Amino acid sequence: MPAYYPLFIDGRSWESKSRQAVYNPCTGEVFAQVALADKACVEAALDCARNAFDKGPWKDISPAERKGLLLKVAQGILDKAGELAELETLNTGKPIKESTFMDVPSAAKTFEHFANNLEAYLQEEVVSVLPEVQSRLIRQPQGVVALIVPWNYPLLIASWKLAQALAAGNTVILKPSSLTPLSALALADIAHQAGIPRGVVNVVNGLGSQIGELLCADKRVDMISFTGSNEVGRQIIGYSAKQAKKLVMELGGKSAALVLKDADLELAVNGSLCSIFLNQGQMCTAMSRILVEDEIYDDFVRGLAAKAKLIKLGNGMDRETQMGPLISDAQRKKIIACVENALKEGAKLLCGGRVPDLPELGKGFFFEPTIFSDVTPDMAIFKEEVFGPVACVSRFSGLNEAAELANKSDFGLANCIWSNDSVRAGELAAKINTGTTWVNTYGMFYNEVPYGGFKQSGFGKELGKEGFLEYTRLKNIIVDRTQGTKPLVNYWYGF
Ligand code: NAD
Repeated sequence: MPAYYPLFIDGRSWESKSRQAVYNPCTGEVFAQVALADKACVEAALDCARNAFDKGPWKDISPAERKGLLLKVAQGILDKAGELAELETLNTGKPIKESTFMDVPSAAKTFEHFANNLEAYLQEEVVSVLPEVQSRLIRQPQGVVALIVPWNYPLLIASWKLAQALAAGNTVILKPSSLTPLSALALADIAHQAGIPRGVVNVVNGLGSQIGELLCADKRVDMISFTGSNEVGRQIIGYSAKQAKKLVMELGGKSAALVLKDADLELAVNGSLCSIFLNQGQMCTAMSRILVEDEIYDDFVRGLAAKAKLIKLGNGMDRETQMGPLISDAQRKKIIACVENALKEGAKLLCGGRVPDLPELGKGFFFEPTIFSDVTPDMAIFKEEVFGPVACVSRFSGLNEAAELANKSDFGLANCIWSNDSVRAGELAAKINTGTTWVNTYGMFYNEVPYGGFKQSGFGKELGKEGFLEYTRLKNIIVDRTQGTKPLVNYWYGF
């Protein structure tokens, strides 16, 4: 009998009238049942989060006390690390090595960071506008925040948003993807066990098409922090427009890795493999375009394809597995269509491009690591987000063409530069329209510094002081200490 997970509202398990199955993408089998939120559940979560914000005590407890509780959440995650990693792998299919060494410890670190820094980040600023006029700039929580997260890093992205929102004093309604709701529910339980008061953290699992508008358009929600696709992002902007809510939008990407002729070839090949095949390529920052300087193009492409063929596909729970399945059959169908189209458009298939022909993987949603070369900017595979293990390689000559090609995208999330020449790399980094550039590394997110995209990749920042401050509003208290000599207010009407 698969385990059953209720919703989490008002500091307790919350039942709903319907349930949904949760699948293990490695086997295609149901491994859990979860409550599916309906209108009544969303209403309850909205009421609880609103009351918990308006009536307290969360926003009014001292920063030191809030810090203590958030450190307990971090510890709670570490105490349950093995269980959480297993849950994440069973639900997403990602290799257990990734959930054990990346997702779970990073989630705990984010709570730790914002707990330890919230007092410094919330410091008020005093500006002496005139000798007798002072302005106090103080940071207040936004209020009730809807946190809407995707299925590719369910625990980690939920933890980023939850840690920042709570550290700033908000109450939240967290809506995970209905494909991967389990770790968000486990996180809510950890927060509750740590002593976060009732109603501060609520989790509603449900289909975006059924409960998304109810949640996002409601007056009780002050801010929406969304990570997901551009299509849904646009819908949420529409729902929020009536009340001009505060929004943070972390959307899609079509990121480019630039491999310069002076790069350490082995590092660039290994880095490029990680940057497109980690998490089965289901990363918003996946370097799905690899742009290589003419002089080293052939050697690079040969090395990349040879190593991609060695990546071991398998059940994520097996410690030897290097690549798991895609999240769903629907996602795999989408990727197969992109690959077929790339072939039609004339891209050259170097490896992969198929569902693996291995009986032990037969029931899972697997797809081989795939590389296309000779890709040109007019091809759809160069322009559109695939969100799977498909890389396309193109060549360039000189830095100007490199920047021009990298910037030929509607997105602007991130890019990589592989080069041993720090001057060339620095020059190039400044020319590329992305929110993050990694030089000689990939995928490192640090709690200390902000992350977020340009152009169609969204707006607002996540992490760092700037990301944290998104969850606050800035209030300006102007105090004028002059006596009787204020021309505007004292003499304007001459009374
Ligand atoms: P998605 O947009 O389909 O879903 C994201 C979340 O929105 C889910 O919780 C979903 O249930 C919810 N949702 C769906 N319809 C909704 C609606 N009408 N109203 C409110 N909520 C709704 O995205 P996905 O398929 O889960 O994730 C993949 C996408 O996420 C990719 O485009 C990827 O690039 C993007 N992503 C971006 C970042 C980033 O930091 N920029 C990180 C991870 C993923």
